[in-house]
Amino acid sequence: MHVLAEQPLLRMNTLALDGRARALLRLEHITGLEQALGWAADRQLPVVPLGEGSNIVVAGDVEALVLRLATSGIEVLEEDAEKVHLRVAAGENWHRLVEWTLRRGYFGLENLALIPGTVGAAPVQNIGAYGVELASFVRAVHSVELATGAGLSLSREACEFGYRDSVFKNRLRDKMIITSVELELSREPHLQFEYPALAAVLEGKQRARLSAIDVFDAVVAIRRSKLPDPARVPNAGSFFKNPVVDAQRAGALAGQFPGIPQYPQADGQVKLAAAWLIDCCGWKGKQRGGFGVHPEHALVLVNLGGGSGRELLDLAADIAASVATTFGVSLEIEPRIVGG
Ligand SMILES: Cc1cc2nc3c(=O)[nH]c(=O)nc-3n(C[C@H](O)[C@H](O)[C@H](O)COP(=O)(O)OP(=O)(O)OC[C@H]3O[C@@H](n4cnc5c(N)ncnc54)[C@H](O)[C@@H]3O)c2cc1C
Repeated sequence: MHVLAEQPLLRMNTLALDGRARALLRLEHITGLEQALGWAADRQLPVVPLGEGSNIVVAGDVEALVLRLATSGIEVLEEDAEKVHLRVAAGENWHRLVEWTLRRGYFGLENLALIPGTVGAAPVQNIGAYGVELASFVRAVHSVELATGAGLSLSREACEFGYRDSVFKNRLRDKMIITSVELELSREPHLQFEYPALAAVLEGKQRARLSAIDVFDAVVAIRRSKLPDPARVPNAGSFFKNPVVDAQRAGALAGQFPGIPQYPQADGQVKLAAAWLIDCCGWKGKQRGGFGVHPEHALVLVNLGGGSGRELLDLAADIAASVATTFGVSLEIEPRIVGG
Protein backbone atom coordinates (compact mmCIF):
# COMPACT_ATOMS: atom_id res chain seq x y z
CA MET A 1 0.00 0.00 0.00
CA HIS A 2 1.54 3.27 -1.11
CA VAL A 3 -0.03 6.22 0.69
CA LEU A 4 1.23 9.59 -0.53
CA ALA A 5 1.35 12.47 1.97
CA GLU A 6 0.34 16.08 1.24
CA GLN A 7 -0.73 15.65 -2.37
CA PRO A 8 -2.06 18.45 -4.62
CA LEU A 9 -5.60 17.84 -5.87
CA LEU A 10 -5.42 20.36 -8.73
CA ARG A 11 -5.26 17.70 -11.43
CA MET A 12 -7.75 15.46 -9.70
CA ASN A 13 -10.86 17.63 -10.12
CA THR A 14 -12.39 18.93 -13.35
CA LEU A 15 -12.80 22.44 -11.90
CA ALA A 16 -8.99 22.50 -11.53
CA LEU A 17 -9.23 23.91 -8.00
CA ASP A 18 -6.20 23.85 -5.77
CA GLY A 19 -6.01 22.19 -2.39
CA ARG A 20 -3.94 19.43 -0.81
CA ALA A 21 -5.00 16.04 0.44
CA ARG A 22 -3.39 15.16 3.78
CA ALA A 23 -2.99 11.65 2.35
CA LEU A 24 -3.84 10.11 -1.00
CA LEU A 25 -4.16 6.49 -2.01
CA ARG A 26 -5.02 4.99 -5.39
CA LEU A 27 -6.30 1.44 -5.05
CA GLU A 28 -6.36 -0.82 -8.08
CA HIS A 29 -7.45 -3.94 -6.20
CA ILE A 30 -10.37 -4.05 -3.83
CA THR A 31 -8.41 -6.44 -1.60
CA GLY A 32 -6.38 -3.44 -0.37
CA LEU A 33 -9.45 -1.62 0.93
CA GLU A 34 -9.47 -3.15 4.43
CA GLN A 35 -5.84 -2.22 5.01
CA ALA A 36 -6.45 1.31 3.69
CA LEU A 37 -9.38 1.87 6.06
CA GLY A 38 -7.28 0.49 8.95
CA TRP A 39 -4.44 2.87 8.04
CA ALA A 40 -6.81 5.86 8.21
CA ALA A 41 -8.44 4.64 11.45
CA ASP A 42 -5.02 4.28 13.15
CA ARG A 43 -4.35 7.95 12.35
CA GLN A 44 -7.92 9.05 13.14
CA LEU A 45 -8.21 10.41 9.62
CA PRO A 46 -11.57 10.49 7.87
CA VAL A 47 -11.73 8.83 4.45
CA VAL A 48 -13.05 10.72 1.43
CA PRO A 49 -13.79 8.58 -1.64
CA LEU A 50 -12.80 10.24 -4.90
CA GLY A 51 -13.63 9.22 -8.45
CA GLU A 52 -12.61 11.39 -11.38
CA GLY A 53 -13.37 14.60 -9.49
CA SER A 54 -16.03 15.77 -11.95
CA ASN A 55 -18.60 16.61 -9.29
CA ILE A 56 -16.61 18.15 -6.45
CA VAL A 57 -15.60 21.64 -5.35
CA VAL A 58 -12.24 21.62 -3.58
CA ALA A 59 -12.79 24.40 -1.06
CA GLY A 60 -9.36 24.11 0.57
CA ASP A 61 -7.07 21.45 2.00
CA VAL A 62 -8.65 18.09 2.71
CA GLU A 63 -7.67 16.73 6.11
CA ALA A 64 -8.44 13.14 5.19
CA LEU A 65 -7.25 10.08 3.38
CA VAL A 66 -8.52 10.71 -0.13
CA LEU A 67 -9.18 7.27 -1.58
CA ARG A 68 -9.32 6.85 -5.33
CA LEU A 69 -10.83 3.46 -6.22
CA ALA A 70 -9.26 2.59 -9.58
CA THR A 71 -10.63 -0.94 -9.65
CA SER A 72 -11.69 -2.47 -12.96
CA GLY A 73 -13.90 -5.26 -14.21
CA ILE A 74 -17.24 -5.81 -15.92
CA GLU A 75 -18.81 -9.19 -15.23
CA VAL A 76 -21.88 -10.70 -16.88
CA LEU A 77 -23.75 -12.39 -14.01
CA GLU A 78 -26.78 -13.62 -15.99
CA GLU A 79 -28.03 -13.25 -19.50
CA ASP A 80 -31.12 -14.44 -21.35
CA ALA A 81 -32.92 -13.41 -24.53
CA GLU A 82 -34.45 -10.34 -22.88
CA LYS A 83 -32.13 -9.09 -20.17
CA VAL A 84 -28.53 -8.99 -19.05
CA HIS A 85 -27.37 -8.56 -15.49
CA LEU A 86 -23.92 -7.01 -15.00
CA ARG A 87 -21.63 -6.27 -12.07
CA VAL A 88 -19.27 -3.36 -12.69
CA ALA A 89 -16.31 -2.33 -10.53
CA ALA A 90 -16.48 1.17 -9.02
CA GLY A 91 -13.31 2.39 -10.72
CA GLU A 92 -14.53 1.78 -14.27
CA ASN A 93 -15.08 4.91 -16.36
CA TRP A 94 -18.79 5.53 -16.90
CA HIS A 95 -18.68 6.49 -20.59
CA ARG A 96 -16.46 3.51 -21.45
CA LEU A 97 -19.04 1.27 -19.76
CA VAL A 98 -21.80 2.82 -21.90
CA GLU A 99 -19.75 2.13 -25.06
CA TRP A 100 -18.99 -1.43 -23.92
CA THR A 101 -22.66 -2.23 -23.30
CA LEU A 102 -23.75 -0.95 -26.71
CA ARG A 103 -21.00 -2.89 -28.47
CA ARG A 104 -22.32 -6.04 -26.80
CA GLY A 105 -25.93 -5.29 -27.73
CA TYR A 106 -27.00 -4.41 -24.16
CA PHE A 107 -29.35 -1.44 -24.25
CA GLY A 108 -30.55 1.30 -21.92
CA LEU A 109 -27.54 3.46 -21.10
CA GLU A 110 -27.35 5.27 -24.47
CA ASN A 111 -28.92 8.52 -23.17
CA LEU A 112 -26.30 8.62 -20.39
CA ALA A 113 -23.34 8.71 -22.81
CA LEU A 114 -20.42 11.04 -22.12
CA ILE A 115 -21.29 11.81 -18.50
CA PRO A 116 -17.83 12.19 -16.92
CA GLY A 117 -16.77 10.14 -13.92
CA THR A 118 -16.63 6.66 -12.50
CA VAL A 119 -19.22 3.92 -12.09
CA GLY A 120 -18.76 4.08 -8.29
CA ALA A 121 -19.81 7.74 -8.14
CA ALA A 122 -22.78 7.30 -10.48
CA PRO A 123 -25.29 6.10 -7.83
CA VAL A 124 -24.27 8.86 -5.39
CA GLN A 125 -26.22 11.48 -7.31
CA ASN A 126 -28.20 9.07 -9.51
CA ILE A 127 -26.69 10.47 -12.69
CA GLY A 128 -29.18 11.47 -15.31
CA ALA A 129 -29.43 13.08 -18.71
CA TYR A 130 -31.81 13.42 -21.65
CA GLY A 131 -34.81 12.01 -19.81
CA VAL A 132 -33.08 8.94 -18.32
CA GLU A 133 -31.67 8.24 -14.85
CA LEU A 134 -29.26 5.58 -13.64
CA ALA A 135 -31.83 4.40 -11.07
CA SER A 136 -33.88 2.62 -13.77
CA PHE A 137 -31.04 0.15 -14.36
CA VAL A 138 -29.68 -0.45 -10.85
CA ARG A 139 -30.27 -3.89 -9.29
CA ALA A 140 -27.93 -3.42 -6.37
CA VAL A 141 -25.11 -1.26 -5.09
CA HIS A 142 -22.33 -2.91 -3.10
CA SER A 143 -20.48 -0.77 -0.58
CA VAL A 144 -18.21 -0.90 2.44
CA GLU A 145 -18.66 1.11 5.61
CA LEU A 146 -15.71 3.49 6.02
CA ALA A 147 -15.69 3.31 9.82
CA THR A 148 -15.89 -0.46 10.24
CA GLY A 149 -14.98 -2.05 6.91
CA ALA A 150 -18.28 -3.97 6.99
CA GLY A 151 -19.88 -4.72 3.62
CA LEU A 152 -23.37 -3.45 2.84
CA SER A 153 -25.34 -4.29 -0.29
CA LEU A 154 -28.35 -2.17 -1.11
CA SER A 155 -31.21 -2.98 -3.44
CA ARG A 156 -32.45 -0.29 -5.80
CA GLU A 157 -35.25 0.58 -3.33
CA ALA A 158 -32.78 0.85 -0.45
CA CYS A 159 -30.71 3.34 -2.48
CA GLU A 160 -33.66 5.80 -2.17
CA PHE A 161 -32.93 7.30 -5.57
CA GLY A 162 -34.42 10.68 -6.44
CA TYR A 163 -33.59 13.52 -8.80
CA ARG A 164 -29.76 13.84 -8.48
CA ASP A 165 -30.16 12.23 -5.10
CA SER A 166 -29.73 8.97 -3.22
CA VAL A 167 -29.24 7.57 0.26
CA PHE A 168 -25.49 8.18 -0.26
CA LYS A 169 -26.15 11.93 -0.19
CA ASN A 170 -28.37 11.69 2.88
CA ARG A 171 -28.47 9.00 5.58
CA LEU A 172 -25.28 7.30 4.35
CA ARG A 173 -23.46 10.50 3.43
CA ASP A 174 -19.71 10.22 4.13
CA LYS A 175 -20.24 6.75 5.59
CA MET A 176 -19.78 4.35 2.67
CA ILE A 177 -17.50 3.66 -0.25
CA ILE A 178 -19.21 2.07 -3.22
CA THR A 179 -17.20 -0.87 -4.53
CA SER A 180 -19.37 -2.15 -7.40
CA VAL A 181 -22.73 -1.61 -9.04
CA GLU A 182 -25.10 -4.24 -10.46
CA LEU A 183 -27.08 -3.16 -13.50
CA GLU A 184 -29.89 -4.80 -15.45
CA LEU A 185 -29.98 -3.86 -19.13
CA SER A 186 -32.20 -4.94 -21.95
CA ARG A 187 -31.28 -7.10 -24.96
CA GLU A 188 -34.00 -5.26 -26.92
CA PRO A 189 -33.71 -1.49 -27.41
CA HIS A 190 -36.46 0.61 -25.77
CA LEU A 191 -35.40 3.98 -27.09
CA GLN A 192 -36.21 7.18 -25.24
CA PHE A 193 -35.87 10.29 -27.35
CA GLU A 194 -38.77 12.46 -26.21
CA TYR A 195 -36.46 14.86 -24.38
CA PRO A 196 -36.78 18.07 -26.46
CA ALA A 197 -33.07 18.62 -27.31
CA LEU A 198 -32.71 14.99 -28.35
CA ALA A 199 -35.97 14.90 -30.30
CA ALA A 200 -34.84 18.00 -32.21
CA VAL A 201 -31.56 16.39 -33.32
CA LEU A 202 -33.30 13.16 -34.34
CA GLU A 203 -36.11 14.96 -36.14
CA GLY A 204 -36.43 13.95 -39.75
CA LYS A 205 -35.12 10.43 -39.09
CA GLN A 206 -37.63 7.63 -39.37
CA ARG A 207 -38.46 6.75 -35.79
CA ALA A 208 -39.03 3.08 -36.52
CA ARG A 209 -35.54 2.85 -37.98
CA LEU A 210 -33.72 4.55 -35.12
CA SER A 211 -31.20 2.43 -33.23
CA ALA A 212 -29.63 2.81 -29.78
CA ILE A 213 -26.42 3.82 -31.56
CA ASP A 214 -28.30 6.69 -33.26
CA VAL A 215 -29.47 7.89 -29.84
CA PHE A 216 -25.95 7.47 -28.39
CA ASP A 217 -24.44 9.42 -31.34
CA ALA A 218 -27.04 12.18 -30.97
CA VAL A 219 -26.40 12.51 -27.23
CA VAL A 220 -22.62 12.63 -27.79
CA ALA A 221 -23.03 15.25 -30.53
CA ILE A 222 -25.32 17.44 -28.41
CA ARG A 223 -23.04 17.23 -25.39
CA ARG A 224 -19.91 17.98 -27.44
CA SER A 225 -21.52 20.98 -29.11
CA LYS A 226 -23.17 22.41 -26.00
CA LEU A 227 -21.09 21.63 -22.93
CA PRO A 228 -17.62 23.08 -22.35
CA ASP A 229 -14.93 20.36 -22.24
CA PRO A 230 -13.42 20.43 -18.73
CA ALA A 231 -10.00 19.62 -20.23
CA ARG A 232 -10.06 23.04 -21.91
CA VAL A 233 -12.45 25.06 -19.72
CA PRO A 234 -12.45 23.63 -16.18
CA ASN A 235 -16.01 23.08 -14.90
CA ALA A 236 -18.14 20.57 -13.01
CA GLY A 237 -21.13 20.43 -15.37
CA SER A 238 -24.33 21.81 -13.85
CA PHE A 239 -23.42 23.73 -10.73
CA PHE A 240 -26.99 23.89 -9.39
CA LYS A 241 -29.79 21.35 -9.29
CA ASN A 242 -33.03 22.29 -11.02
CA PRO A 243 -35.34 23.39 -8.20
CA VAL A 244 -38.60 21.51 -7.62
CA VAL A 245 -41.62 23.40 -6.23
CA ASP A 246 -45.20 22.46 -5.40
CA ALA A 247 -47.95 22.99 -7.98
CA GLN A 248 -49.40 26.01 -6.18
CA ARG A 249 -46.04 27.81 -6.12
CA ALA A 250 -45.49 26.88 -9.80
CA GLY A 251 -48.87 28.38 -10.71
CA ALA A 252 -48.04 31.62 -8.91
CA LEU A 253 -44.65 31.83 -10.65
CA ALA A 254 -46.25 31.21 -14.06
CA GLY A 255 -48.65 34.12 -13.42
CA GLN A 256 -45.86 36.42 -12.35
CA PHE A 257 -43.26 35.38 -14.95
CA PRO A 258 -44.92 34.41 -18.23
CA GLY A 259 -42.73 32.00 -20.24
CA ILE A 260 -41.05 30.48 -17.18
CA PRO A 261 -40.23 26.87 -18.19
CA GLN A 262 -42.00 24.31 -16.00
CA TYR A 263 -41.75 20.51 -16.07
CA PRO A 264 -44.55 18.70 -14.16
CA GLN A 265 -43.28 15.64 -12.26
CA ALA A 266 -45.04 12.33 -11.65
CA ASP A 267 -45.55 13.22 -7.95
CA GLY A 268 -47.47 16.43 -8.78
CA GLN A 269 -44.53 18.73 -8.10
CA VAL A 270 -43.04 20.96 -10.79
CA LYS A 271 -39.39 21.20 -11.81
CA LEU A 272 -38.05 24.61 -12.84
CA ALA A 273 -35.03 25.29 -15.05
CA ALA A 274 -32.26 26.71 -12.85
CA ALA A 275 -30.42 27.96 -15.97
CA TRP A 276 -33.46 30.06 -16.98
CA LEU A 277 -33.78 31.58 -13.51
CA ILE A 278 -30.04 32.44 -13.39
CA ASP A 279 -30.12 33.86 -16.92
CA CYS A 280 -33.12 36.07 -16.02
CA CYS A 281 -31.11 37.49 -13.13
CA GLY A 282 -28.46 38.62 -15.63
CA TRP A 283 -25.64 36.26 -14.66
CA LYS A 284 -24.99 34.53 -17.99
CA GLY A 285 -21.50 35.38 -19.27
CA LYS A 286 -20.61 37.36 -16.12
CA GLN A 287 -17.05 37.02 -14.78
CA ARG A 288 -15.81 37.62 -11.28
CA GLY A 289 -12.29 37.01 -10.03
CA GLY A 290 -11.04 33.81 -11.57
CA PHE A 291 -14.51 32.45 -12.34
CA GLY A 292 -17.34 32.99 -14.76
CA VAL A 293 -20.84 31.93 -15.68
CA HIS A 294 -20.58 30.21 -19.06
CA PRO A 295 -21.83 32.54 -21.82
CA GLU A 296 -24.07 29.82 -23.30
CA HIS A 297 -24.92 27.87 -20.13
CA ALA A 298 -25.98 29.82 -17.13
CA LEU A 299 -25.89 26.58 -15.11
CA VAL A 300 -22.20 25.94 -15.73
CA LEU A 301 -19.65 27.88 -13.68
CA VAL A 302 -16.16 27.85 -15.18
CA ASN A 303 -12.69 28.35 -13.76
CA LEU A 304 -10.91 31.02 -15.79
CA GLY A 305 -7.79 30.71 -13.66
CA GLY A 306 -6.34 32.06 -10.47
CA GLY A 307 -9.31 31.74 -8.11
CA SER A 308 -9.90 29.54 -5.06
CA GLY A 309 -12.75 27.15 -4.34
CA ARG A 310 -13.97 29.57 -1.65
CA GLU A 311 -14.26 32.38 -4.24
CA LEU A 312 -16.22 30.07 -6.52
CA LEU A 313 -18.59 29.22 -3.66
CA ASP A 314 -19.02 32.96 -2.90
CA LEU A 315 -20.00 33.55 -6.54
CA ALA A 316 -22.43 30.62 -6.37
CA ALA A 317 -23.94 32.02 -3.16
CA ASP A 318 -24.49 35.42 -4.80
CA ILE A 319 -26.15 33.79 -7.83
CA ALA A 320 -28.42 31.77 -5.53
CA ALA A 321 -29.24 34.91 -3.49
CA SER A 322 -30.34 36.86 -6.56
CA VAL A 323 -32.52 33.95 -7.75
CA ALA A 324 -34.07 33.76 -4.27
CA THR A 325 -34.76 37.51 -4.25
CA THR A 326 -36.28 37.58 -7.74
CA PHE A 327 -38.23 34.30 -7.76
CA GLY A 328 -38.42 33.24 -4.11
CA VAL A 329 -36.85 29.91 -5.13
CA SER A 330 -33.77 28.37 -3.46
CA LEU A 331 -31.03 26.88 -5.57
CA GLU A 332 -29.05 23.94 -4.26
CA ILE A 333 -25.44 23.36 -5.29
CA GLU A 334 -25.05 20.03 -7.13
CA PRO A 335 -21.34 19.17 -6.66
CA ARG A 336 -20.01 17.96 -3.34
CA ILE A 337 -17.86 20.46 -1.40
CA VAL A 338 -14.68 18.89 0.00
CA GLY A 339 -12.00 20.45 2.17
CA GLY A 340 -11.62 23.97 3.49
C1 LIG B 1 -18.83 18.51 -18.17
C2 LIG B 1 -19.65 17.76 -17.15
C3 LIG B 1 -20.91 17.30 -17.48
C4 LIG B 1 -21.68 16.61 -16.54
N1 LIG B 1 -22.90 16.16 -16.91
C5 LIG B 1 -23.66 15.47 -16.03
C6 LIG B 1 -24.94 14.99 -16.42
O1 LIG B 1 -25.39 15.15 -17.55
N2 LIG B 1 -25.67 14.32 -15.50
C7 LIG B 1 -25.20 14.08 -14.23
O2 LIG B 1 -25.92 13.45 -13.45
N3 LIG B 1 -23.99 14.52 -13.85
C8 LIG B 1 -23.21 15.21 -14.71
N4 LIG B 1 -21.98 15.67 -14.33
C9 LIG B 1 -21.50 15.40 -12.96
C10 LIG B 1 -20.59 14.15 -12.85
O3 LIG B 1 -20.22 13.71 -14.12
C11 LIG B 1 -21.27 13.00 -12.10
O4 LIG B 1 -21.73 13.43 -10.86
C12 LIG B 1 -20.33 11.80 -11.89
O5 LIG B 1 -21.06 10.70 -11.41
C13 LIG B 1 -19.17 12.11 -10.95
O6 LIG B 1 -18.26 11.04 -11.03
P1 LIG B 1 -16.79 11.18 -10.44
O7 LIG B 1 -16.15 9.84 -10.52
O8 LIG B 1 -16.06 12.28 -11.14
O9 LIG B 1 -17.09 11.57 -8.94
P2 LIG B 1 -16.30 12.59 -7.99
O10 LIG B 1 -16.50 13.98 -8.50
O11 LIG B 1 -14.91 12.14 -7.80
O12 LIG B 1 -17.13 12.42 -6.64
C14 LIG B 1 -18.45 12.90 -6.53
C15 LIG B 1 -19.03 12.48 -5.17
O13 LIG B 1 -19.15 11.08 -5.13
C16 LIG B 1 -18.35 10.53 -4.06
N5 LIG B 1 -17.76 9.28 -4.55
C17 LIG B 1 -16.94 9.13 -5.63
N6 LIG B 1 -16.65 7.82 -5.77
C18 LIG B 1 -17.29 7.16 -4.76
C19 LIG B 1 -17.37 5.80 -4.35
N7 LIG B 1 -16.73 4.81 -5.01
N8 LIG B 1 -18.12 5.50 -3.27
C20 LIG B 1 -18.78 6.47 -2.58
N9 LIG B 1 -18.73 7.77 -2.90
C21 LIG B 1 -17.99 8.10 -3.99
C22 LIG B 1 -17.32 11.59 -3.73
O14 LIG B 1 -16.88 11.49 -2.38
C23 LIG B 1 -18.11 12.86 -3.99
O15 LIG B 1 -18.96 13.12 -2.90
C24 LIG B 1 -21.16 16.37 -15.24
C25 LIG B 1 -19.87 16.83 -14.92
C26 LIG B 1 -19.11 17.52 -15.85
C27 LIG B 1 -17.74 17.98 -15.49
